[in-house]
Amino acid sequence: MVARLMTLAQREAFFHALEKNNPNPQTELEYASPFQLLAAVLLSAQATDISVNKATRKLFAVASTPQAIFALGEDGLVPYIQTIGLYRTKAKHLIATCEILTKQFDGEVPQDRESLESLPGVGRKTANVVLNTAFKQPTMAVDTHIFRVSNRTGLAPGKDVLEVEQQLLKRVPKPYLMGAHHWLILLGRYTCKARSPQCGACLVEPVCHFKDKQSINLTGTLKGSGFVASKSLANKVRDKLADAAKNHHGKGVTGLLHNNQDSPKKEKTSQGVRLSNPQKRTVVKKTVVQVKKTAKRTPQ
Ligand code: SF4
Repeated sequence: MVARLMTLAQREAFFHALEKNNPNPQTELEYASPFQLLAAVLLSAQATDISVNKATRKLFAVASTPQAIFALGEDGLVPYIQTIGLYRTKAKHLIATCEILTKQFDGEVPQDRESLESLPGVGRKTANVVLNTAFKQPTMAVDTHIFRVSNRTGLAPGKDVLEVEQQLLKRVPKPYLMGAHHWLILLGRYTCKARSPQCGACLVEPVCHFKDKQSINLTGTLKGSGFVASKSLANKVRDKLADAAKNHHGKGVTGLLHNNQDSPKKEKTSQGVRLSNPQKRTVVKKTVVQVKKTAKRTPQ
């Protein structure tokens, strides 16, 4: 299901929270010149930034310009980058790119998309990273993390990376366009992970429209409540509670556990099953007992 679109106010709150936490977001790739950034990004396809940094630290110590890497040749380059996935193809592309930069661009990295994308191994995403990070242009390089976060949260949904890129350029509020690329990558890499988003610890949770956000939070809360010890049991209890809440109220179970010490006023505003606090605890305890009994009867 596609997440509901964020409003402008929500998008502003989203980026305000990310900016407040990290006012000057940076790439995690190490580089000291536009050329080194281009080389590092070219090497980073389907590889981690850590593995690329390990390789480029040694490479750039002996050859840090297009001329010097071209002079190494493929055979000379491979030993430096062979710990990185797809290193043979990447070596070919990097040497060919260095040759073109040396012969056609005076050893400089061009600052326009068309010239960048004409270089071997440089696609739209790499060009966007270089234009944004080295040349401070408000471009949006959509990788797997940004694609997921944009769709999941309702920030800028799209069916492919190009659509997400165009949506982001339209929907990210202007003051945040320069930093958006890094903030979104870091959010996707460390918090809004593919399989286990950390919604409970997420800065943008209040404005995120991910449909499973509440259930994920509830799993964490159940685990933290002391009623259940494992994540898998918490998941089962959560699902059972969610079913019960749906059958009786047609709503979620937000607040079912959250408000054990809440005031009656807050209790009224919770969306979940409206029970007094001791009753809530009883419902949860009973559900845990039922789930445990069922698990015993049906061993995996
Ligand atoms: S609240 Fe959850 S789904 Fe939404 S951005 Fe944060 S981690 Fe991702």
